[in-house]
Amino acid sequence: MTERRIPYSEIFYSIQGEGRYCGAPTVWLRLFGCNLNCDGFMQDNLDDPASWRLDYKDIDLSGITSMGELPVFQRGCDSSYSWAKRFRHLAPKESAETIAENLRDLLPGRSFRHPTSAQDAHLAFTGGEPLMQQTAIMTILGALHVGGDAPNRITVETNGTRPLSKTFTAYLATMLEDSATEWFWSVSPKIRTSGEPWDKTIAPEIVGAYAQTSPHGQLKYVVDGDERTWDEVERATALYRAAGVRFPVFIMPVGGRVEDQQRLAADIAEQTIQRGYNLAPRVHCYLFGNALGT
Ligand code: SF4
Repeated sequence: MTERRIPYSEIFYSIQGEGRYCGAPTVWLRLFGCNLNCDGFMQDNLDDPASWRLDYKDIDLSGITSMGELPVFQRGCDSSYSWAKRFRHLAPKESAETIAENLRDLLPGRSFRHPTSAQDAHLAFTGGEPLMQQTAIMTILGALHVGGDAPNRITVETNGTRPLSKTFTAYLATMLEDSATEWFWSVSPKIRTSGEPWDKTIAPEIVGAYAQTSPHGQLKYVVDGDERTWDEVERATALYRAAGVRFPVFIMPVGGRVEDQQRLAADIAEQTIQRGYNLAPRVHCYLFGNALGT
């Protein structure tokens, strides 16, 4: 049987930059592929799709031989290198065993338990949309377990639109039963700031099924300060609550660059406090400029 090779766009060791575990040392696997486009982020006129400019569609790829040579795109999805078809040839494809070894190689002491601090490093699956590759996640975790030093803290960053397969649900039930592992659902529902239509992105029953597998998680919305955006945050959250999702809400100011974050952050922070949510500035943007590999 041919060994399945898993496409991804990057593997790196950094911090978690957003939300509940902000600042936690984290080894990242950014899987390739997404079911959305989110072309609306950071466009000058969100209400006029004809005016949107999309750098990821225009960039000249001649001479670019690896993902690391790509810039972070200012408009549209800032992770478009992790799903757009025109970048697919740049995506490494490796077996689960090789990816597990590559993840381990990045960790101090090659261990999810730090040799000095004895604290756990987190493992985060991101994308793209990592739940398009549920089998890959299982096989990579299986390969890490074979190595005898598996992560105790696992995050999946998802847009909340992909249903869990029966196999993946059963896998989680078995893995989390009587286990010290914390499975953390970091759900970022795409509201109007993404440019995607509500009916395509807000799927309360799907996220409700995530919450049944693990009570740990967060709902993380990208907000631009527009009153219509706040209305969508409130409407969507009410629907998730009705579907049994108790995850706390985090608000992220829109923008992938530090200047974008600073432009809006103070106003959005004030609104976030008044509305009773948690603020999630994108700390990696301030620290590292949101470069790839951070
Ligand atoms: S869901 Fe995430 S990765 Fe996919 S297009 Fe939207 S912002 Fe980008």
